[in-house]
Amino acid sequence: MAHDWGDGTRAVRAGLPEPEKYAAALPGPVFAAHYHLPGEPTGPYTYGRDENPTWTHLERAIAELEAPDPGSAVETVVFASGMAALSGVLFSQLRSGDVVVLPSDGYQALALLREQLEAYGIEVRTAPTGGDAQLDVLEGARLLWIETPSNPGLDVCDVRRLVKAAHSQGTLVAVDNTLATPFGQRPLELGADFSVASGTKGLTGHGDVLLGHVTCRDAGLAAAVRRWRKVVGAIPGPMEAWLAHRSLATLHLRVERQCANALALAAALAERSDVAGLRYPGLPGDPSYAVAAGQMRRFGSVVSFTLPDRQRAERFLEALRLVDDATSFGGVRSTAERRGRWGGDDVPEGFIRFSVGAEDPEDLLADVLHALEAAAAQ
Ligand code: PLP
Repeated sequence: MAHDWGDGTRAVRAGLPEPEKYAAALPGPVFAAHYHLPGEPTGPYTYGRDENPTWTHLERAIAELEAPDPGSAVETVVFASGMAALSGVLFSQLRSGDVVVLPSDGYQALALLREQLEAYGIEVRTAPTGGDAQLDVLEGARLLWIETPSNPGLDVCDVRRLVKAAHSQGTLVAVDNTLATPFGQRPLELGADFSVASGTKGLTGHGDVLLGHVTCRDAGLAAAVRRWRKVVGAIPGPMEAWLAHRSLATLHLRVERQCANALALAAALAERSDVAGLRYPGLPGDPSYAVAAGQMRRFGSVVSFTLPDRQRAERFLEALRLVDDATSFGGVRSTAERRGRWGGDDVPEGFIRFSVGAEDPEDLLADVLHALEAAAAQ
């Protein structure tokens, strides 16, 4: 794609093949374990674990959205889940004896990855996202892993600054872009080597598909990630890949609405005396705002805050009518959860991670304010 389109146009056209008479605009899912393959086994489609035309369309679509500018050559590899995509980068790049820097406050399954990496003889160092503290432990690392905004604390680091320091000593940089989506920030544009994400969240946005992807500029890095997918077989089903591609058409609409709703919710919560520790990177005055505004195009759909104690948080969640008590985030239907119920995150008992959906803002705010009052009254 070499068009200078706006985000809405990019979303609805992403990855579509050239129009063909009598063909569907977005070709349907190709269900194939193998393909007709007479003679030499070459060409794009040989075996179903290696390649699939439905992935190809989706990979082109995501690459168009992640590309630093229209027409720049980047390559996307889709995976069965976000964790498969994270693993695809970590385990294709790191060898025994290497050093990797992870965030200490990122997605809680990073702790599982850490155990696995250490079992393979890889040294894992961690530091918090905020204040670019990962810089302090970067020396000699082969890979720096960034998650910004971090989940669930919503701290932000300066990606350009970290990339500059990393590249000056030959360290590769991967950014987990799950929370932001490519319409929130484009890590490759900020200089990262890998943009990695769970598509399970905002990218597909309906809470019905697990998916992941890795996008990189360097063809050699992309080939290594693709090879890893083939080795472990962490491939998406064609139906999931097709559903994801279909969902991308509304990504811009969803992100716009959800981010606007998130800002409105954060602004309303900021007025409440029963809400502490409110975080939303798009809220002027948030500790993340200045850095976020310098690198993000939209600030995401997740707001976090703390109610006085566990019981109050549970009563709040129970009193909500429009907001499901569920984990995950980024979907069109608002969800919220008391994050402390999982263990693993360093958060207070009353900490709520709120994923803002695409409801009418008046309805959503009324529901949240009513639930806060109900939780306070008991
Ligand atoms: N990265 C982040 C920031 C996440 O929040 C998650 C899941 O919650 C993942 C990665 C893993 O994604 P998946 O659940 O699709 O494997």
